[in-house]
Amino acid sequence: MMNYNFAIRRKRGIQILFRHFYHKRISQLFQPINIISKDATGKKEELVSISQKLLVDCGIVRPRGNGMFAFMPLGQRVLAKLTDLIDEEMKLVGAQKMLLPTLTSGHLWKKTGRWKTTGDELVKVKDRHDKDYVLSPTHEEAVVDMLSEVYHLSYRNLPLRLYQISSKFRDEANPRFGLLRCKEFLMKDLYTFDQDEASAISTYDQVSEAYNAIFQRLGVPFVKVAGDCGNIGGSFSHEYHYPAAIGQDTLLICNGCGYSVNSELVSDSNNTNCSSCGGVITTTKGFEVGHTFLLGTKYSDPLNCSYQNENGRRSLVQMGCYGIGVSRVLAAAVEALSSETGIRWPWVIAPYKVCIIGPKRGSKEANLTSWVHFLTDTIGSIKSFQDDIIIDDRDTFTIGKRVMEAKKTGYPFIIVVGKKASELVPRFELIENITNNVQLFSHVQLLDFLRGK
Ligand SMILES: [Zn+2]
Repeated sequence: MMNYNFAIRRKRGIQILFRHFYHKRISQLFQPINIISKDATGKKEELVSISQKLLVDCGIVRPRGNGMFAFMPLGQRVLAKLTDLIDEEMKLVGAQKMLLPTLTSGHLWKKTGRWKTTGDELVKVKDRHDKDYVLSPTHEEAVVDMLSEVYHLSYRNLPLRLYQISSKFRDEANPRFGLLRCKEFLMKDLYTFDQDEASAISTYDQVSEAYNAIFQRLGVPFVKVAGDCGNIGGSFSHEYHYPAAIGQDTLLICNGCGYSVNSELVSDSNNTNCSSCGGVITTTKGFEVGHTFLLGTKYSDPLNCSYQNENGRRSLVQMGCYGIGVSRVLAAAVEALSSETGIRWPWVIAPYKVCIIGPKRGSKEANLTSWVHFLTDTIGSIKSFQDDIIIDDRDTFTIGKRVMEAKKTGYPFIIVVGKKASELVPRFELIENITNNVQLFSHVQLLDFLRGK
């Protein structure tokens, strides 16, 4: 025991002594950058979206067959930040996180009728005993069936809000635009259970507030429209869209009363005036990134999910379901914000907030590398930058080449330790990626500036 403790203490001591050894460094990062553009492979240009091209070129994701993508370490960091943000807002509406199996029994999908109505998009599989399963695209059947077995479910347990973040599957006929339309994707799905319709609507309003908060914190302009209930069903729904020229949905927005609707819901989408206020309707294309549904008893009825009410009788639970396409938010945000030349991340999900570039090996300033580690430690001590700094230590590359790569990867702030760092009062270049603004700061000025971010 003594030896064990001593070993741990000794290891920690070494970590503190050589802290810079633990700094995140691009030389150690698995980031398979595409040097040759995908266009050279003969793929038609119009089938590739900006986000797909940039995310693959910058080594954020790697294509793994048609409509499938692997997340590289930088991409995984973005997903983790998105997950944290969603978890925070879900907690505020009392939602509890759980995890359901990816496979759902086919017989449950047959009970609700969706085995047939979902059509070819449903990925059906069989086990060795010839039993049917689906690789779940959504989990209404699975969660309702689980809850229906909790026979002592009482009005005291309601409202109940359960959610998960997991891989979902869709046999997409025509996968394209990278993560925007693919076969496997990461989704947050929340299922809510209430005693009656009034409380289900109150839940719907609370979750809608959480959705507004999530999309406002991400900072990408979004449009909320009345949606099509489609194959999920229920009495009404709302969709959250990121605008994009290549978007698969057409949204109609009234400039008068603000009423917005998915064109799928409108019988005559060529009508240029609002039916309720007469205002002018503008059309925009978008990608759906979130969808909320008030379901009623569409699933609790066929799967017999009930609770004991105050009078001791069994009543069907009233449901809602609420999705956010997590991997799609990543791609659609990049699609909405980026230019052809580089990624722009929403501040809250940038893979690292700061990239620090040190002097080139063999240059006059090569002896200033210690500044890189000093800045990493001091900036890293600001709470909002903790663990959010990466050093481009590939010192055989010129500073210019590394700045270009850092801009393309989309780090919001790039700090250069170059010639000016050897002056009497050392100064550092701070490049603000979004504005392309370059400022020279002393160490103290730099910290003051970043503390305000
Ligand atoms: Zn109107």
